[in-house]
Amino acid sequence: KSFKELEIIDQLCETLDTLKFHKPTPIQQASIPLALAGKDLIGLAETGSGKTAAFALPILQALYHSPHSTLFACILAPTRELAFQIAEQTDALGGSLGVKTCVIVGGMDMMPQSIALSKRPHIIVATPGRLLDHLENTKGFSLRSLKYLVMDEADRLLDLDFGPIIEKILKVLPLGRHTYLFSATMTDKVERLQRMSLTNPVRVAV
Ligand code: AMP
Repeated sequence: KSFKELEIIDQLCETLDTLKFHKPTPIQQASIPLALAGKDLIGLAETGSGKTAAFALPILQALYHSPHSTLFACILAPTRELAFQIAEQTDALGGSLGVKTCVIVGGMDMMPQSIALSKRPHIIVATPGRLLDHLENTKGFSLRSLKYLVMDEADRLLDLDFGPIIEKILKVLPLGRHTYLFSATMTDKVERLQRMSLTNPVRVAV
């Protein structure tokens, strides 16, 4: 199926065309209809499979339908490099919708990040430690309005011992949100995180 046949809106289809994403990859084919139907997802997919657009497109489409929402989605990534790569894609895909993304990662000053958060971006791409730091220390910042949580490369997040930090973050997120967990492998730790954070998830493997 084409992106249009997967019921991606015309405005995003045009952007996808410009980016030369002419055909959905298998993980996109499998995930997008489930995500658009409101399901929580477990995506078993490697880097290079197109998993970023698989979770980003349904979020961007939901944002299109709720244009005044801010702090709408949060994407957790294990490393700074991955966080910047994800933000680059959400910016490229969401640019025509006016979507603003903010990257919140460790090893950089807190203050410019606090200012960026106070401007209420639509999407935050973060490493877990620094996000928790802002949740605990940046006045006025909360994720109570969050509609989507993505945990990307969950196996690596847990290998890097972000488990306890993610548990603390999960405690302050609204329960009515949608959650997508992507991982290259399904380990015991990933299953535990999945049970803690997803509601009746559908598993998608490619
Ligand atoms: P990812 O697995 O999300 O890291 O994506 C791997 C690469 O594939 C990225 O450089 C994307 O820009 C590209 N990509 C994702 N989806 C598509 C698609 N449907 N067609 C062509 N390229 C894509």
